Amino acid sequence: MLVVMDVSATPRDVEAVCAEIRRLGFTPHAMPGASRTAIGITGNQGPIEAQTIRELAGVLEVIPVTKPYKLVSREVRPDDTVIRLPTGAEIGGKRLSVIAGPCSVETEERSLTIARRVRRAGATIFRGGAYKPRTSPYAFQGLGVRGLEILDLVRAETGLATCTEALDEESLERVAEHCDMIQIGARNMQNFSLLKKAGRAKKPVFLKRGMSATLSEYLQAAEYVLSEGNYQVVLCERGIRTFSDHSRNTFDVGVIPAAKNACHLPILADPSHASGKRYDIIPLARAAVAAGADGLMVEVHDRPEEALSDGAQSILPDQFDQLMLDVARIAEAVGRTV
Ligand code: PEP
Ligand code: MN
Repeated sequence: MLVVMDVSATPRDVEAVCAEIRRLGFTPHAMPGASRTAIGITGNQGPIEAQTIRELAGVLEVIPVTKPYKLVSREVRPDDTVIRLPTGAEIGGKRLSVIAGPCSVETEERSLTIARRVRRAGATIFRGGAYKPRTSPYAFQGLGVRGLEILDLVRAETGLATCTEALDEESLERVAEHCDMIQIGARNMQNFSLLKKAGRAKKPVFLKRGMSATLSEYLQAAEYVLSEGNYQVVLCERGIRTFSDHSRNTFDVGVIPAAKNACHLPILADPSHASGKRYDIIPLARAAVAAGADGLMVEVHDRPEEALSDGAQSILPDQFDQLMLDVARIAEAVGRTV
């Protein structure tokens, strides 16, 4: 159910509706929009008896939500969600957000070298995994807490915001302490207890699409985070498994307009994990921006042949400069800036 407030409704009217929803035993989620506030209701198993809500001051209408997800849907919030990080970086506004950095945090020096280069080219958020979800248990698993400390240093030295993956509930707490945005990886997209915990964290969540998740499954995963009270979620298309074998995954460019149509959360594209091949990254990044993505996540490494993970898909800093120039031209054509 969704309570749509009148444009003239006061904050006190909104609070009275929230109180009534709580009295009925459900959870209210007030979502202020540009012209009006909508209040999502969760915790109900079926339709609820809404007469007492309908009669309250400032209520325009009470409507059922038809989708399996509610709080992430455009029905609940017609305006785009814009997320602001403490460094001033924004995700979901007119300006594209670019997250760049190595797959894994390796050393302090290497992280700083890459961070300075990507910042100069226009990235506003630095990425680097400290906890790595590797297919093989014998592959590099990440530096753990030391990796988070290096990310702190990068932030302090460059002013870039930081984003890194939390693999489990324990690392989520640590990541939330250190970084500006908590990444939940493709392999954990339906780890519902982790999603609930991320929903109780006080930092934005960067939720990657599962390898074989439909859009509806993906949006319901995001719904888990919002339903716990964290409305700051960024989606990211990172390629899905298909029969195509020329690339690591298949970049689903079509999910970008589909997600933007169904939901109000920003969506970024990660051409690096989608493709797995260095030569593919710039063309896919261009396609993503042309399709309306709110930004990109790109793996960049100054010595990809020495990278501890994903070297084959990491672009060089010079290529990242080129990517940003290309993307700036496409952004202009679709009414965005970089
Ligand atoms: C990553 O961003 O380093 C990563 C492991 O991505 P994904 O979860 O999309 O595979
Ligand atoms: Mn990677």
